[in-house]
Amino acid sequence: MIAEIISIGTELLLGDILNTNAQYLSRRLADLGIDLYHQSVVGDNGERLKEELERAYSRSNLIIATGGLGPTKDDLTKEIGAEYFNKPMELHEESYKILSEHFQRLNRELTENNVKQVYFPVGSIILPNPFGTAPGCIIEDDGKILILLPGPPKENIPMFENHVVPYLNKLTTHTFISKTLRICGIGESMVATKINHIIDEQSNPTVAPYAKDSEVTLRITAKAKNKEEGYNLIAPMEKAIQKILGDNIYGTDEDTLEGVVGKLLIDNKLTLAVAESCTGGLLSGRLVNYPGISNAVIDGCVTYSNDAKVKRLGVKEATLEKYGAVSEEIAKEMAEGVAKTSGAAVGISTTGIAGPGGGSEEKPVGLVYVGIHIKGKTFVKKLQLSGSRQTIRERTVTFTLDWLRRKLLSLYI
Ligand code: AMP
Ligand code: MG
Repeated sequence: MIAEIISIGTELLLGDILNTNAQYLSRRLADLGIDLYHQSVVGDNGERLKEELERAYSRSNLIIATGGLGPTKDDLTKEIGAEYFNKPMELHEESYKILSEHFQRLNRELTENNVKQVYFPVGSIILPNPFGTAPGCIIEDDGKILILLPGPPKENIPMFENHVVPYLNKLTTHTFISKTLRICGIGESMVATKINHIIDEQSNPTVAPYAKDSEVTLRITAKAKNKEEGYNLIAPMEKAIQKILGDNIYGTDEDTLEGVVGKLLIDNKLTLAVAESCTGGLLSGRLVNYPGISNAVIDGCVTYSNDAKVKRLGVKEATLEKYGAVSEEIAKEMAEGVAKTSGAAVGISTTGIAGPGGGSEEKPVGLVYVGIHIKGKTFVKKLQLSGSRQTIRERTVTFTLDWLRRKLLSLYI
């Protein structure tokens, strides 16, 4: 079975909205082990939609189309689907009942164009839509399958998960199971080099690295009859990679770096305070992503000016004068100061030049110092980062979280 996705809507062509449905559906089709070789976007235009259907069926047999199921004149996906398969439209009584009850509850009149939403090509399988007014449908004809889903993601996704996935599972004899290993503190090419022999020898499962937001992920995918067989195939490869990459792997699947750090702090009953200069709250923000972090993070401040560093953290004016705000000494005093003034067990700090201006030969843009005060000792790392202001700030945050994770692992585990 070869699948193809057609996303329908002029707003997609104009760039007004992002085609998140295509991304979601592609990912899920890959999970289900269904080949997808093409995707296309077409506006709300009957002629071009029909052309697109013809082109798609010349190379694929399962078309999933999203959008254009609404009540207005430019919503014509079902009508074009019916035309393509030469099927008349008929009213689906059950959907009509649901729709009219819905309108009664809202005290609104059911208009003719609303009723259009419950007409389907004869013989369709109807997909109920509890999150909107337009049901979807599946048309099967001579080995060709056309699945029509509504455009709004909050309707599209549940319909796909609740009705289309079970339908597709019946058509395929295997499934794809994936596990993602999350890696930090080592680049994508280094990861690929280290596990080169595993990549070379892969067949089932396969492994694919990709990099995102200064992290690397390795996705191990097994083709199997069921979940259990899939995970059994994945386990030995995961173990082999774990042996090579060790602590560089911070988690799996839905784990986040801030979640792993948060958990380490909480499990070891450690409180944390954050003193930020160049990251301006981004580090605290990342930590607070993790629910339950209030059991660890007790304080945080954005001490952007020298004055604030002195007043809030007790940084010495003499140190500022001698070394400047972006220096090893200041990162140290900031981390120590925030731990002391807040009474936290651990203090962390960032100070640097995020750019684009403010750099000098001695202290170029991207120069960042990060401090960790823990167990009575203070450690400082000097980083030379590159990228835009936002990238430099984000990389500082990721580095700081990862370094704190490694410190906690070495001191407490
Ligand atoms: P439609 O069913 O074509 O009238 O689409 C209704 C709304 O759903 C659009 O205005 C968008 O906000 C959203 N939508 C439609 N298609 C997509 C898509 N491919 N990805 C994300 N959102 C979409
Ligand atoms: Mg539309």
